[in-house]
Amino acid sequence: MLDTLRRLVQAVTDAENLDAALDLIVSRVKSIMQTGVCSVYLKDDASDRWVLMATDGLKPESVRKASLGLSEGLVGTVGTREELLNLDNAPRHPAFRFLRETGEEEFYSFLGVPIVHQRQVLGVLVVQQVTPRRFSDDEESLLITVAAQLSALIAHAKISGALRTGGGQGDEATGIDVHFKGVAGVPGIAMGTCLVRQPPAMLRRVRDRMTDDPERELAAFQVALSAVKDELRRISQNLSASLKQSEMALFETYLRMLEDHALSGEVCRRIRSGESAETALKYVVLDLVARFEAMQDAYLRERGSDLLDLGRRILARLQDQVDDLGPLHEDTILVAEDVTPVMLGEIQKHRLKGIVSVKGSANSHVAILARSLGIPAVMGATDLPVSDLQGTIVVVDGWRGEVVANPSEAVRDAYQEAIVEAEVLQADLDRVGPGPCTTRDGHGVLLMLNSGLFGELSQLQRSWIGGVGLYRTEFAFLSRSRFPTEDEQRAIYQDELDQYSPNPVVMRTLDIGGDKGLPYFSFEESNPFLGWRGIRVTLDHPEIFITQIRAMLRASEGLDNLRILLPMVSTVAELTASKRLIARVLGELRGDGMHLETPEIGAMIEVPSAVYMAPELARQCDFLSVGSNDLTQYVMAVDRTNARVANLFDSLNPAVLRALDQTCQAARGAGIPVALCGEMAGDPMAAVLLVGLGFDELSMSGSSLAKVKRAVLAFDRSDCQSLAALALSLESGEQVLHLLSEAFLKHGLSLLLPPSLRDTLALEACQ
Ligand code: PEP
Ligand code: MG
Repeated sequence: MLDTLRRLVQAVTDAENLDAALDLIVSRVKSIMQTGVCSVYLKDDASDRWVLMATDGLKPESVRKASLGLSEGLVGTVGTREELLNLDNAPRHPAFRFLRETGEEEFYSFLGVPIVHQRQVLGVLVVQQVTPRRFSDDEESLLITVAAQLSALIAHAKISGALRTGGGQGDEATGIDVHFKGVAGVPGIAMGTCLVRQPPAMLRRVRDRMTDDPERELAAFQVALSAVKDELRRISQNLSASLKQSEMALFETYLRMLEDHALSGEVCRRIRSGESAETALKYVVLDLVARFEAMQDAYLRERGSDLLDLGRRILARLQDQVDDLGPLHEDTILVAEDVTPVMLGEIQKHRLKGIVSVKGSANSHVAILARSLGIPAVMGATDLPVSDLQGTIVVVDGWRGEVVANPSEAVRDAYQEAIVEAEVLQADLDRVGPGPCTTRDGHGVLLMLNSGLFGELSQLQRSWIGGVGLYRTEFAFLSRSRFPTEDEQRAIYQDELDQYSPNPVVMRTLDIGGDKGLPYFSFEESNPFLGWRGIRVTLDHPEIFITQIRAMLRASEGLDNLRILLPMVSTVAELTASKRLIARVLGELRGDGMHLETPEIGAMIEVPSAVYMAPELARQCDFLSVGSNDLTQYVMAVDRTNARVANLFDSLNPAVLRALDQTCQAARGAGIPVALCGEMAGDPMAAVLLVGLGFDELSMSGSSLAKVKRAVLAFDRSDCQSLAALALSLESGEQVLHLLSEAFLKHGLSLLLPPSLRDTLALEACQ
């Protein structure tokens, strides 16, 4: 049965259009279930009726003609109640409604299930039979499974159909506002014309071929390889003015991947053994990609997609299929199944206004680069019919993680207004002047930088930040193919400490596991977020921990601005053990004659046990720092990388706020400062709340500093405290958001609110 289902889903996926897909569904389901009739009714949004869209068993002429009102008939009952109906004598059911045009009078048995996608009923799948009988439990579950499996495909096909019938490509007058959900990749709004990038060539389609002239094939491969390397160097040159050195390192990694023996060495070996260059390339790349894709952690899986892109580029060169992007629109929106950093780099920066990717998340490389370049992006837009979008106008709403294709004039106007407002905000932020960040009545709040892989700060910003609140050392480990040596680490850390001296730099010890893995140190776990993560890994590998601590301490000699932060602490014992190791290393280095200050040591509060034990942890620490990304994940039991539950990932939920409150109280009780270094700190609304809760330091990415400072400057400390007290007493994150948005409006900070919130509040004001 599973095989039959899989084949059905595959056939529907390959169908040319919605009608073909539905015809396939009804005929296959009818034959699998051996019934008299199978039909699909879909909801027509314009008429608000269930329209018969495909049938096998009823009169074919009734397709698209027969329809029922929303709560009319058995189909309406299934659709509105969103539940299955299994009847042995359908005409006796009070909701039964006779549809003459379908010729259905002889059918007694009826089984209908709703087709639901993302909580919305798209339609109803029905089977009917002449003989009066109740369908069996097995038949019920089969139909439910089919409907569930097909709902996303139907949603996708329906949208493609709507796009194709909704007016000409980018036709201004006939826009129909087709919305696609994704995840917020980079905040901001853009509108422009889609440039759809298809993979340059398909490795899987390469037909196996042997060669009797390996030398010629080897030469062709070398030419193609160097052409791709040149292309990468050109792209990296293009981007070098806008990106930081650490971000450019990604392109060096790609070059290294191309030179790696596992790729080019293996391709050459296979060519020498008689395979053509294309065949050898196919097998080597697909094999490496499969190995990456089988890995648990997101970073390594992404390496797989980078490698696939590089392999396809070499293949395109071998096949002489180098495509020219052609003339680009002034406002180009880059759209692809899997947007890669190389695709991004191919487009001149001043023309690239937005990015939409079917795959990927806010943590993908491409999203990180787009953030640095200030380009709004929507990632993980799984229902997007990529190939139908070429040349169409779309709106990219990176705040809400939404794409609107074929926007109507009203929607375009609304978004155009939002774009102008964003420009006004930027101009306003550019004016945020020097001087420390304080509340309006002078209470100081230290704003710090989350450093590691983010854009450069302006000189002005550097002058008023309090230092680096989180330096994620993983990046030094990720861009290599082996653990960096103590000396390599020391040089990198010294650079960082030096740049921000005399301000403090909080260096976090290696935080791998969960969604962060190292290409050369990977392990499989069924529950990685509850597994071997952060301090658990490094305490089990003291040699890694000690090397890193030695590198940090040696780097700090003479600068004395190092603070050490321990990630994912879940027990007091972990803190004690880490402190003991740090003290030992410090003693040894001093013994070797180094002049070292004792660094401040802090624990990250990221898991519920650390919140409950915060008073005990605080007694043994010099500071606490909350990782709100992980804390939200663990308090709300929501995987931070899972797009399906992204709406439940809410750092403003009072449950999270109460955990933050307890942490602040613990720090206060022990007389030590408390910081927050997750994404929450960079959200101006949350930041005001955090000041009210009593956080002394907020650490965020460079692009959020001005916004947060602008917000904090506008509030008195007592305002922040009252907001925090009220928020703690509320029931939901939405209520907290509402409370904060109203306060922002009252303080003249409406421009700092996401556009969607501004619209909601304006609407409420009118009512
Ligand atoms: C956090 O969890 O909030 C945090 C700052 O650490 P990371 O995002 O690196 O896990
Ligand atoms: Mg964390």
